[in-house]
This record gives sequence, structure tokens and C-alpha cells, in this order.
Amino acid sequence: MDVAGEFKDLYGYAPEGVWAAPGRVNLIGEYTDFNEGFVMPLALPHVAVAAVGRRSDGILRLHSADIDEPVAELAVDTLTPLSGGGWAAYPAGVVWALREAGHAVDGGADIHLSSTVPTGAGLSSSAALEVVTALALNDLYELGLSRPELALLAQRAENAFVGVPCGVMDQTASACCVDGHVLHLDCRDLSIRQVPFDLESQGLRLLVVDTRVKHALGDGAYAERREGCETGARQLGVSHLRDVDYAELPSALDRLNDERIRRYVRHVVSDDQRVARVMALLDAGDVRGIGPVLTEGHASLRDDLRISCPELDLVVSSANGAGALGARMTGGGFGGSAVVLVEEGDAEAVAKSVRAAFEGAGFTAPRVFPAVASPGARRLV
Ligand code: ADP
Ligand code: MG
Repeated sequence: MDVAGEFKDLYGYAPEGVWAAPGRVNLIGEYTDFNEGFVMPLALPHVAVAAVGRRSDGILRLHSADIDEPVAELAVDTLTPLSGGGWAAYPAGVVWALREAGHAVDGGADIHLSSTVPTGAGLSSSAALEVVTALALNDLYELGLSRPELALLAQRAENAFVGVPCGVMDQTASACCVDGHVLHLDCRDLSIRQVPFDLESQGLRLLVVDTRVKHALGDGAYAERREGCETGARQLGVSHLRDVDYAELPSALDRLNDERIRRYVRHVVSDDQRVARVMALLDAGDVRGIGPVLTEGHASLRDDLRISCPELDLVVSSANGAGALGARMTGGGFGGSAVVLVEEGDAEAVAKSVRAAFEGAGFTAPRVFPAVASPGARRLV
């Protein structure tokens, strides 16, 4: 895609630069971020690319090559949270969040973007959009913000401006990931560790299977799980479930009398422990060893948190049945994507089995592609 050329056709001048920010897939650690626990995402090769030029009149012009809508034109100083605005709310929210935090982007900007991140597949096309906008404005307006600071502002844009109560994992992954690594993020202090994740040299592949479904059931589920986790923490006398040690999980569960809360607590505390196990296995060079941990994580999401769906369960069972090393749903659930760890030589056969299982069940054909741990946000031109 020639985003710079399209920018020039659209706005009548050449952009000052072009930036890219990736989507992400989460290897392990689900619904742990808002419990101040641990997550382990990697950046995908799929990116949102933005060509950007500064203005001096306080106007923000936004255009997406992927959406059939004319250029949106907004005044920077009248941006208001939750005022609607469809897709434009994501980049506009970033401008709002920057200004709210006292950063001078008052001149405005012209932005044209295009993305290869599949939307609504749980691969964070929204975070890619926010982070590419934040990084471009940070560079052009010389704001001097760090990557984690940009991620936090992008999250604030999504939370407060767009109105989606997401955690900070997606934006941090898009802003901070490094080529060939998974990012270990402590969602309490936001400290980061880059963990080498070189599948190719090990003869392995991580497949992403996008089920291409999104069940309406998911609509209130995130807020309900979040509320349940907060209730669990309160009943256990801790500020967040991150503070419950895995070794103390049985006694913690004994102290909870609501079966639903017990399931949520068991998922979160055990998934934090699975993140620790995956990191230890990767540190020890035992990449194959993480397969069973992924599958265990899926069972926890399916049975305890109850956010899976027939399509995601079928990816996991058919992939593992065809010889995958392990698999789990990833992201918010009720559809979206799963990750599958396979021997390189088995990748095709496993993908074929998953496709055949979907066809047999009468499901929409899934999209399957390898997840190569890719770089985080960067300036291209
Ligand atoms: P996910 O982040 O999992 O892909 P979300 O629902 O959080 O799903 O974000 C998807 C939304 O982000 C889209 O509905 C659209 O508003 C916006 N978006 C993503 N990619 C683009 C794009 N290339 N152009 C315009 N808007 C986009
Ligand atoms: Mg999103």
C-alpha cells in the first residue's frame, strides 16, 4: 500500500512521515491485566500504517483507506469523549488524551491510514490505530513521551473517549514489542521483559486461527467478569487478584462461597501462574514445553471463566487431535482467534484438520496464518 501517495492525493501535499504499529496476539495470560497480573503478548506482522502531516489551525482531519467514508474533520479543542464518531473516535481519542495530559498538539494534523490488522478478530486492530497515531504525533510534535507512556495514553483514549473498558495489554504490546520476542508485562507496575521467542530456529510455528465469528453473548460478559473478579478480590481482602499466591489458591477458594466467583478467581490466579510457567520454560529453551500449558489455559477459560464458544473449542480440540503441541483461545472470547503451537512440519496438516472440522460442523471457514513475533510501533519514513 502506498499510504504516502494516497495522503498526497487526499490532502494535496506530501506527509511529513509514515509510521506503523502492529496488532498483537496474546500467547498466555487472559483477563489477568485488569487484575494487575501478568500477560505475554507478541506483535504480529500485521500493521496499521499512518501518513501524517501537522497543521497549524487546530483542525484534525482523519481518513482511513479501509472505510468507505469521506475525510472526517474535527476541531482539536472541541473533542468530547463518547461523542460517537465511529472509527474516527480511535485516533481522535488519542489527540484528546494527549491534550488532556497537557501535551501540546494544538495545531492539529492530517492523518491518512490503512491497516492489515483484521478488525474485530481479537488481534487489536483498535490498539494499532491508537498507537500509530500516538507515535506519529509524539515524533512530529516532539513530545518526548516513552513507549509505555504512549501506550497508557492510547489506553486512556480507548477507555474514556471511545468508551471501551480495555486493559493496557493491547496498547503496550503494539507500542513496546520487539522483533523475535514475546513481551512479559507486569500489569501492576507496567514493567516489561522481552523474552526471546524464536520459533523458526526451533522448527516450530505458532498459528493464529481467526474463527471469524463474534457472538453477541460477549457483549456484557467482559464487564460481568471484571465485576466478578473485583468482588472476589474484595471478599479475599486483597486489592487485586494478582495478590493471591498460587500456593494459597486452595485455601482462598475455601473462603469463597459463591461458585461463580470461585471459578473466576481460580482462572485468574492459575493463569498468572501459567504465565510464570511459560516464561520459565522459554528461559530454559523448552519452547515445546509451553504447548500443554496453552491447552490447560484454554480449559480454564472454557470451564472456569466461561468465555469460550463452540468454534474456539473446536479449533483447540481439532488442532490437538491432529498433533498440535497445544492450543488456546486468545483475547476476549466468544469468538475471535485462537493460537496453536505446532511442529513446522505439521503446520499444514493441523490447519487442514481445523478447516475440515469447521466444515463438518457447518461453521464459517476460519482464517489461518502464522504469527511471527514482529517489531512494535516504528517510524517507516
Ligand atoms: P479489535 O481491536 O479486536 O480488532 P475492536 O472492536 O476493538 O476490535 O476494534 C475494531 C474497530 O477499530 C473497528 O470497528 C473500527 O472502528 C476501528 N478500526 C480498526 N481498523 C481500522 C481501519 N483500518 N480503519 C478504520 N477503522 C479501523
Ligand atoms: Mg480492540
